[in-house]
Amino acid sequence: MTDKIRIATCSLGGCFGCHMSILDIDERIAELAEVVQFDRSPLTDIKTCGPCDLGLIEGGLCNEENVEVLIEFRKNCRILVAVGACAITGGIPAMRNNCELDSCIEEAFVRSPGLYNAQIPNDPELPLLLDKVRPIQDAVTVDFFLPGCPPSADVIWTVLQQILNGQPLVIPAQELRFD
Ligand code: SF4
Repeated sequence: MTDKIRIATCSLGGCFGCHMSILDIDERIAELAEVVQFDRSPLTDIKTCGPCDLGLIEGGLCNEENVEVLIEFRKNCRILVAVGACAITGGIPAMRNNCELDSCIEEAFVRSPGLYNAQIPNDPELPLLLDKVRPIQDAVTVDFFLPGCPPSADVIWTVLQQILNGQPLVIPAQELRFD
């Protein structure tokens, strides 16, 4: 039996840059490991999310699998935090929202220069793309938004400390960034 805080993390339509920022807390991760236990996360390679105190979501909703994973996190995580611009606004992947989905797919898989034997992938295991990339709050209730592309390691650390200490979640003005 453990009384450690359970944390789950995942990348939906993201680039893993926000996860890299989490790792950028550097040696403080040893301090974190004393008091938290990671559930589903790229850090553990656990594939399903169990009951957790905190869920950190990177990336927006690009496909149906992203929606399923997000709903699983919302069901299991007491506090859900949108980490980074892609989770909050759709971010870079949402640039495709300016075009029709069919046109994006053809541009990527058929019309791009240098393609050999160009064809649109249709393996049934591939998750279906959503018509538009959407922020995660379009599908579930989000408890806190941590902006930045990515948020700095220091602001991630600040918010983690607030959660671990049961304090209100507040981003100090000097740590707030949107780039
Ligand atoms: Fe990557 Fe920036 Fe999106 Fe984070 S917010 S997943 S760093 S593009």
